[in-house]
Amino acid sequence: MIRTRFAPSPTGFLHIGGARTALFAWAFARHHGGQFILRVEDTDVARSTPEAVQGILDGMNWLGLKPDEGPYYQMQRMPRYKEVIAQMLAAGTAYRCYTTPEELERMREAQRAAGLKPRYDGTWRPEPGKTLPTPPTGAQPVVRFRNPVDGIVAWDDLVKGRIEIANAELDDLVIARADGTPTYNFCVVVDDWEMKITHVIRGDDHVNNTPRQINILDALGAQVPIYAHLSMILGDDGQKLSKRHGAVSVMQYDDAGYLPEAVLNYLARLGWSHGDDEVFTMEQFCAWFDLGHITPSAAQFNTEKLNWLNAHYLKQTDNERLAMLVRPRLEARGVTVGATPALDAIIGLYKERVSNLNELADAAEIFYIDLHPQADVLAQHLTPEALPALADFIAGVREVAWEAPAIGALIKACIGRHGLKMPKLAMPLRVLLTGQAQTPSVDAVIALFPREMVLKRLTAASPK
Ligand code: GLU
Repeated sequence: MIRTRFAPSPTGFLHIGGARTALFAWAFARHHGGQFILRVEDTDVARSTPEAVQGILDGMNWLGLKPDEGPYYQMQRMPRYKEVIAQMLAAGTAYRCYTTPEELERMREAQRAAGLKPRYDGTWRPEPGKTLPTPPTGAQPVVRFRNPVDGIVAWDDLVKGRIEIANAELDDLVIARADGTPTYNFCVVVDDWEMKITHVIRGDDHVNNTPRQINILDALGAQVPIYAHLSMILGDDGQKLSKRHGAVSVMQYDDAGYLPEAVLNYLARLGWSHGDDEVFTMEQFCAWFDLGHITPSAAQFNTEKLNWLNAHYLKQTDNERLAMLVRPRLEARGVTVGATPALDAIIGLYKERVSNLNELADAAEIFYIDLHPQADVLAQHLTPEALPALADFIAGVREVAWEAPAIGALIKACIGRHGLKMPKLAMPLRVLLTGQAQTPSVDAVIALFPREMVLKRLTAASPK
């Protein structure tokens, strides 16, 4: 049984890089009919917040990355970590160390001065035949992992290839602080072990932790999972993705009017490929996804491509669902969405022309608010030669069949009678009805409105 996990630290909102990690871990589990586990790594109490936890859950939910198990919270697992530490102390794979922080600092200074790499000197590390110093009374020790001193620790990373580290490079890691709380790497190890994680898919900022984690897993007699470390995501400008680049939290993409399926499709292609396929469903992605086609080099964000995908998905999405997504955006702007024109009809006409839900809301808004076209725009289009044709059209509106083709025919008849070219009448109509010079086909726009509303808008602003 394949078991993957996503293990965010709730110190900020779900970042777009974290979302990609979650997506890959989720898809790998789906591909193999396995399980995807969500684990909130909230042991850094100073930096973890309930808002960030909620932000992560919201982001996962918005993307539809549903865990099969969890969320587990590390803070709720403290007793278990302490139990494992006690077992390791008993087994001799961990030991109490009474070296004080001041002593450690002095030790490091001396090592640095001698041109050596600063490291713990092993004073309290038990060795066969070695007599340990007597513990100072009343002092609270930390617990250190007894890291092997010889040999190497190695793993075949599914993205980065084989990685080997000499154990001599690794210190005896502190696994419990003097107050008894377990440290970060230790909790990860216990959880990956007990949650029976088979594949650890995570950001490559954790490559450095992996050799230590493997050594501890070995000491526990645990099965070492397979690791796949994903390269980081760079911004459009090739720099490390950060707040400077605008939206970095997943929910900001929601605010900005992206559809989750567009973001998912986009993220799936960030560092992974399936031939030349650019547009695919999550079902296809899960069917295709493997860890063998992940690029080890950093992936670069491309906002233009995301926008293109979003426009694509907007076109594909039915009007009713889009209306459900656009309506709260309009309401948030204080716009009351009336029964006429029907929001889904407006959306049907505009969805081909926009690249996000906010633009769709912009387009829909003008149908529901009192419109005050700008005087200069009116002056530009309500020319003396256009006015008689406009009056003619207004007269015709009262009788014409209320559907786009008949309205189109009326427009043509009016321009014919007044010897005008199409834009001479179409532009004033657009501007008076929508406040905008650019709209979809004007007859289709007019047909969206109730007849009375058209009469009202055409007569309100046009000079008498
Ligand atoms: N909690 C870590 C983070 O948010 C991830 C740990 C892991 O995946 O092993 O960076």
